[in-house]
Amino acid sequence: MIPIVHHPAYVTEVPSRSTYRWGKNGAIRDLLQAEGARIDWHRPEPMPRRWLEAVHDPDYVDEVLAAAVPAVKTRRIGFPVTPPVAARAAMVPGGTWLAAMLALDHGFAANSAGGSHHALHETGAGYCIFNDLALAAVRLVEEGTVARVLVVDVDVHQGDGTAALTAGRADIATYSIHAEKNFPARKARSTLDVGLPDGVGDDAYLEALERTLVPLLDAFAPSLILYQAGVDPLAEDRLGRLALTEAGLVARERLVARLARARGLPLASTVGGGYGDDVMAIAARHVRAILTLGEAFGH
Ligand SMILES: [Zn+2]
Repeated sequence: MIPIVHHPAYVTEVPSRSTYRWGKNGAIRDLLQAEGARIDWHRPEPMPRRWLEAVHDPDYVDEVLAAAVPAVKTRRIGFPVTPPVAARAAMVPGGTWLAAMLALDHGFAANSAGGSHHALHETGAGYCIFNDLALAAVRLVEEGTVARVLVVDVDVHQGDGTAALTAGRADIATYSIHAEKNFPARKARSTLDVGLPDGVGDDAYLEALERTLVPLLDAFAPSLILYQAGVDPLAEDRLGRLALTEAGLVARERLVARLARARGLPLASTVGGGYGDDVMAIAARHVRAILTLGEAFGH
């Protein structure tokens, strides 16, 4: 069985004037439910406030939890933070942390949301409110659960928030492989950034991923991988600039799983970017990534 973290709060109504596809999380849940007994469901708790405040500015945490985010930050986030959106924002990082705890026991587990890699110290950005990857990583190392966490971010956009929020820490490293010309225009500095030119396809992408990730895995020797499995490097993605195929995304998940398993490393995945008009197709890509990883870990 594949351990999956999900909470009803993940599935929120579409806020007015939003271009973001909130229906995605409901579709992901439905597609996973259709897998029946293969899935072992787990329900998270919200990330405790002390951890939210350990990573984000306490004033910004207040603004989000009170659903009173100033307009300038709302614009950077890309949608209004209503009370249900605020509840979701605190729940999703709890889910990424729980997926990591489950991965330590089972080798692999997935959060059915998350990957909010653009969220910064004092504000959200790019459809991200709280940075679940940085929050989970900081909590895992500061509670002494694991010694070192590597965040592997394969979303087509750079994991700038995660890099900025964990910069200078010896116990957290960040890897981002992305389209160099894509959002964000101003990149942060990850432990290792692999900025790809526009139009890169499956073979060149997989070659670059393996060639750059293996030395970092071996040099940093993490205890656990947090994996942001964005599906927006796909050729037809509305916000991507790369040219991967569906088969290329599957090969990517198999490659990352193989590298982790060869080193005995547990891996917890989150979803990530995936943009276009066909919500079901995007949700199906996220579910395919989760199931591919689960199979590769022997579930
Ligand atoms: Zn993205």
